[in-house]
Amino acid sequence: MKLSRLLVPTLKEDPADAEVISHKLMLRAGMIRKLTAGIYSYLPLGYRSLRKVEQIVREEMDAAGAQEVFLPVVQPSELWKESGRWDVYGKELLRFKDRHDRECCLGPTHEEVITDLVRREVRSYRDLPINLYQIQTKFRDEIRPRFGLMRGREFIMKDAYSFDATEEGAEESYRQMRVAYEKTFQRCGLEFRAVEADSGPIGGSFSHEFMVLADTGEDTIVSCDCCDYAANLEKAEIRNEPPSFPPSSSTPEKAHTPNVKTVDEVANFLKVSPATIIKTLILRSERGPVVVLLRGDHELNEVKVKNFLNLAEMEMADANLILEVTGGPLGFSGPIGIHNVPVIADHAILTIESAVVGANKADTHLVNVDPRNHFRVDNFGDFRAATEGDLCPRCPGTLRLSKGIEVGHIFKLGVKYSKAMNASFLDPEGKETLMIMGCYGIGVSRVLAAAIEQNHDDDGIIFPPPLAPFTVIITTLGAKSDAINDAAQKVYENLWSANIDTLWDDRNERPGVKFKDADLLGIPFRVTIGQKALAQGNVELRNRQSKETILVRPEDLVSTIVAQIDSWTAGQ
Ligand code: ATP
Ligand code: MG
Repeated sequence: MKLSRLLVPTLKEDPADAEVISHKLMLRAGMIRKLTAGIYSYLPLGYRSLRKVEQIVREEMDAAGAQEVFLPVVQPSELWKESGRWDVYGKELLRFKDRHDRECCLGPTHEEVITDLVRREVRSYRDLPINLYQIQTKFRDEIRPRFGLMRGREFIMKDAYSFDATEEGAEESYRQMRVAYEKTFQRCGLEFRAVEADSGPIGGSFSHEFMVLADTGEDTIVSCDCCDYAANLEKAEIRNEPPSFPPSSSTPEKAHTPNVKTVDEVANFLKVSPATIIKTLILRSERGPVVVLLRGDHELNEVKVKNFLNLAEMEMADANLILEVTGGPLGFSGPIGIHNVPVIADHAILTIESAVVGANKADTHLVNVDPRNHFRVDNFGDFRAATEGDLCPRCPGTLRLSKGIEVGHIFKLGVKYSKAMNASFLDPEGKETLMIMGCYGIGVSRVLAAAIEQNHDDDGIIFPPPLAPFTVIITTLGAKSDAINDAAQKVYENLWSANIDTLWDDRNERPGVKFKDADLLGIPFRVTIGQKALAQGNVELRNRQSKETILVRPEDLVSTIVAQIDSWTAGQ
């Protein structure tokens, strides 16, 4: 392919509306263009790279025994009503009616469609296990689409679904996918980590997210500095260290705190540390109000509370409910005197010797409160978000926080969908039994953005060779010289016949412009053909990543490039 014929509209300046580096560089390198919020067109270079990611994903899925299918984007509401998700999925599900007034949606995910397919076509235990996958456009009407391909509304996902006859089988399917994911992301040249994710009522560690490590990531990864424990923030457990001091014999005293409501305001006003204040959160759930107590410097982890109390819905109470539960106004809630409502408390409040709490009365707090003596707690537990320096749940180590981009998610679903949609098979005794499912997603387009997020410098993208739109760019200096063009033609043909994707920058541009573009596009190898080296029978080979330039005889180019790619692969 000659660059003069290729649609690569590069930009000199950073586009104004791009915040993260991968988005900026993909726009500048002419890989993608925005159609409207969260919806992008892939231009030739972007699409070539995307297809390379797809191909790696496809090969690893096939190697793991999954079978490729292609399911519809438009889905009828009936299936979503059967699964129960039509009413709970929320606004990310784009719903519309067809000309016959039938309700439909654009698929944000395909559990319903695949479960419907499999329940019709698979009847016997002999046909199980089965794992079906597709690489497809998904639509999610994200509230804040941003960062280019990272969080789009329309994006490409690989989604796989496994169906097993037994629990052990389902766990084996999960394990195989986990291995396939590790291979996939490794082949893509990503620095990543598999972290435990919340699996709701299924429990165990049957949900993992694959996180690409990057400061611009939207997710927080919690990992131990000592052992290999790693989890996302929702899931991360914290080891509880019981207090070593005796209960106090003090009695609570009132403090006048006019209009002083938040933890920070109370801390400033009373000149105490937020870590000595107890936050009293009143929450509304489908089973009525719940009170959660946390240390003032800690944040609530909703998922932990929901899992502990087995709740589906939870939100902060409004002033009316707070008044009903505590008898006092918003901003002055405290645990003393709360009756008939369950009270749960994070372990860490027990580390406060003398606490400050709201008095359930306007403009009043209580001081000298002993969390072990002065109020009722029905259950202590781990209800807060992990913070830097918390204790590891698995070893004596300490937890650290870092940022990541979620590129994949694997999940053991159990019988959630097969039960709702009656996907059963006949077991060896002829008994109807529910299939046990798993689902496994990879954000294919997000992988591309994440790879660039991790591999770039001031000059542009540095593609991992397997994802580069082209592996080599030939830069000819002096477009009018026959000798140079003939040499370039030969090199070009040799590289292609060795199956090395090669782009030829044949434009009549200054060398500086061509070099800058080659760097921006992130092509792993640049072969420069110019008068001087050619007179000695050489061409120049530059490695985009190491920035090393060597002189090579044209006939040695293929083997030299292959050796450099091999050494890159070995370093993965
Ligand atoms: P997130 O927490 O980032 O919104 P999710 O948990 O909703 O993701 P899943 O339903 O697990 O995502 O989808 C599988 C994969 O699809 C994710 O791991 C991610 O890589 C990708 N993905 C999800 N939403 C988007 C999006 N809006 N744009 C691009 N990729 C996405
Ligand atoms: Mg997820």
